[in-house]
Order: sequence, then structure tokens, then C-alpha cells
Amino acid sequence: MAASEPSLLEAQKADSRDEHTPRFSKGVELGPDGKPCRTCTSSSEWKAMFKSAKIPSKTPAVTTSPLAIADRTDCPPDIEQLGRASWTLLHSITAAYPSNPSPAKQTETRDFLSLFSKLYPCHTCASDFQTWLKEGRNAPRVSSREEFGRWMCEAHNAVNVKLGKEKFDCDRWEERWRTGWKDGGCD
Ligand SMILES: Cc1cc2nc3c(=O)[nH]c(=O)nc-3n(C[C@H](O)[C@H](O)[C@H](O)COP(=O)(O)OP(=O)(O)OC[C@H]3O[C@@H](n4cnc5c(N)ncnc54)[C@H](O)[C@@H]3O)c2cc1C
Repeated sequence: MAASEPSLLEAQKADSRDEHTPRFSKGVELGPDGKPCRTCTSSSEWKAMFKSAKIPSKTPAVTTSPLAIADRTDCPPDIEQLGRASWTLLHSITAAYPSNPSPAKQTETRDFLSLFSKLYPCHTCASDFQTWLKEGRNAPRVSSREEFGRWMCEAHNAVNVKLGKEKFDCDRWEERWRTGWKDGGCD
């Protein structure tokens, strides 16, 4: 267990000190092991858990800046940081994908997506993504860069919709992830 994760025992002890204190803040997801899952939880909920359970977070060995967890780049990722980094990787893979991939490349790509959906560290996200992938019309389309880039954009939009965010215009996936915007803003 990572030193910064509160154990169930610590949380229960915290409960017994104050019966009105919830064991975990609302919004903190538990992992399959029954412990709080950092990569399934936003950093604000994570911080709230330590406050409400009265569990001191790990005392830093070195002097740390007073930045909020979400602004720091040297802490384990929360659900949003993990998501942004993962989408960057996934869309960048589509951007580097060949226009005419070999059958072997297409098979490897499908295999990668299947494994990715099983190994994604936020288990609730992974489970929903696997369900989405299994719907017939959502099967990965990998016969060209253009197809794959659009498919990834649609996959990302499915999560955006689930989270109540705006859909991204998939006509512009390549500007966002491969060529840069037509107005030259990325040059
Ligand atoms: C497979 C997967 C499943 C996830 N499931 C969940 C979940 O169940 N619950 C949860 O809370 N979070 C989930 N996430 C994380 C979530 O999708 C976001 O990454 C996170 O909320 C941070 O969002 P954001 O607004 O910073 O931008 P992100 O959604 O991370 O997007 C990053 C950038 O990509 C661009 N972009 C946005 N949409 C598209 C698109 N459709 N196509 C191309 N580019 C686009 C935009 O420029 C945006 O700034 C998941 C992430 C992944 C990779």
C-alpha cells in the first residue's frame, strides 16, 4: 500500500473518534481491494477525505510548495490528470497511425485497445469503456489514420457526454492532435 493511502483500519479508527464523521467522503471511489482508489477520484474529493476522516496526509520529507494537489506535477494522478494524459497518448497514437496500415498493424491496434480497456487504472472508467467497446457500432475502426482518428474522437465524446461535457467536433480531430490549428496558432 502506498504510504499516502489511508488504510481501512485507519479510516475505521477515525470513525470511532467521531461517529458523525463519514468513513470516506462522498465521491471517493473504492478500488477492487476495498481501499480508496486515487486514480478513480478527483483530487478535491481525495483531499476532502483526509479532512473529514481526520487522517493526516503523509508528512512530506522535503519542503513542498503550497500548491493545490491538482496544480502539482509530482503527485500520483487523480482521475482527471490520468484521463488527460491518457487521451493525449490515445489521440497521439491515432495521429501517428499510418494512412494504409498493414493487416498486422490493424490487429495489433485492436489488441492494444482491448488490453488498454482492461488495464486502465481507474476501474470504474475501465468497466464503462469496455461496455461501450462491446456495443457493435463502437468496435474500433482502424483501417486508416482518418478512420481511427475519428473513431477515437467518438470514443472520447462518449465519455464527454457521460460526464456532461460538450462534444468535440470530430471534423477537427486532426487539427487538434496532428497538424495543429489551421489558423497557425500551434506553429
Ligand atoms: C478511456 C477513458 C475513460 C474515462 N472514463 C471516465 C469516467 O468514467 N469518469 C471520469 O470522471 N473520467 C473519466 N475519464 C477521464 C475524462 O475523460 C477526462 O480526461 C477528465 O475528466 C479530464 O477532462 P478535461 O476536461 O481536462 O479534458 P479531456 O476530456 O481529458 O480532454 C483533453 C483534451 O482533448 C481534447 N478533446 C476533448 N474531447 C475530444 C474528442 N472527443 N476528440 C478529440 N479531442 C478531444 C480537448 O482539447 C481537451 O482539452 C476517462 C478517460 C479515459 C481515457
